[in-house]
Amino acid sequence: MAYRGVYYLGVRLNLWPGPQHYALKQLNLKPTDFNQHISAVALKLQKQGYEAYIVGGSIRDLLLKKGIKPKDFDIVTSALPHQVKQCFARSRIIGKRFRIVHVPAGREIIEVSTFRGTATWMSKFFSARYRNNIYGTLEQDVWRRDFTFNALYYDVKQGQVVDFTGGVSDIKQKKLVVIGDSADRFRDDPVRLLRALRFLAKTHFDIDQQCENQINSQKMLLRSVSKDRLLLEVTKLFNQGHAHASFQALMKYGYLQILFSGYERLAIPMTQHDRYFSSVFRAIDEKYHRNERLSTSFLFAALLWPLFETHRKKLKKITAYSVKKVIHRVLRFESRYVAIPGKLQDAVQDIWLLQHAFETKKSPFSEDRYRQPRFQNAYLLFTIRAKYLEKLAEKAMMWQSEIEQASSRSTTGESDAGK
Ligand code: ATP
Ligand code: MG
Repeated sequence: MAYRGVYYLGVRLNLWPGPQHYALKQLNLKPTDFNQHISAVALKLQKQGYEAYIVGGSIRDLLLKKGIKPKDFDIVTSALPHQVKQCFARSRIIGKRFRIVHVPAGREIIEVSTFRGTATWMSKFFSARYRNNIYGTLEQDVWRRDFTFNALYYDVKQGQVVDFTGGVSDIKQKKLVVIGDSADRFRDDPVRLLRALRFLAKTHFDIDQQCENQINSQKMLLRSVSKDRLLLEVTKLFNQGHAHASFQALMKYGYLQILFSGYERLAIPMTQHDRYFSSVFRAIDEKYHRNERLSTSFLFAALLWPLFETHRKKLKKITAYSVKKVIHRVLRFESRYVAIPGKLQDAVQDIWLLQHAFETKKSPFSEDRYRQPRFQNAYLLFTIRAKYLEKLAEKAMMWQSEIEQASSRSTTGESDAGK
């Protein structure tokens, strides 16, 4: 990586002073801003003689939004995975692509990874798994990270943040900056394209023209990424409180069609679904702000609904059998690039079948059905659809009163039982 080479040369020739160190105070942070468990894990590693830093999402999010307790905890250390495991009794080594250690602390799981080194020309003779798990030093680890604001390292013992790549100043200037050459970095790992969209949606930062050009031109590369990784990243786009902005970013750069190729062939212009999608993603963000977890099945059912709906409309005769067949076809087709595991497919199918039931069923559901989370997700999707389809509005009202009655029956039932 040329960028790293220039950095080393700069430091050697005294042209560049090396990393910047910021005391927490300079960044308007205090040690208690960090979750005590994550700090304790880092300190324990330091006490055992290893280097250890809090890195990634937690430090970035603190700098982005002061006063917010981050939910994501990553530590990087000079200790090798088995050495980390020795330090923490209940920890586990996991990961295929990268070996990391999960350390349970309080109610959180803290991800501890070892500094990564860089592959040499010789490593190309070894497997990807070997190349991904070459360990290194802090100075090497920095250049493997994706964006400058994700490469800030907090040293708990010293109480300072180490910044090699100018991440702190990029945050101040509201810029999303790729570490190194964006064309190379996106090519090396196309998941970074999706991560870029996620961080753009989250921060509304600016990106430079070259990076934007890459996001526009390299998107096909995503299709070569493992399906499981894409499932994880797609979910992350929508479960962090900025689902609406993430969806807009996907649309702006044409990524929805890359991930779910049925959208490439949709005869109806996507703009026709604008209001539907806005409503879906606003509902998802509202859930997040009420501290409710997003169900992945609701996400996929809502995200792929217009595709299923298009095919359903083409059916000459709507029967349970024909509808199920269409559901299977759509889900099989849409899991070409993003994994939709069997259980998730079953849940999506249920939510879609319930749409059909809401539209046609005349008698109430059984009492316990109303309380099932899947039923509630299906009902949420139905109410969103009913906002735009007049023919569903009356039905939605009918089900609303039905569901309210059922819930008041069950609360009086419960309080009676408690007497
Ligand atoms: P989140 O808050 O969503 O967890 P994050 O940045 O912490 O965001 P993680 O997937 O937890 O994301 O990764 C932790 C850190 O590992 C990142 O901050 C980044 O430094 C590095 N990282 C993760 N994925 C990549 C990648 N594909 N390429 C380079 N660095 C990565
Ligand atoms: Mg993280």
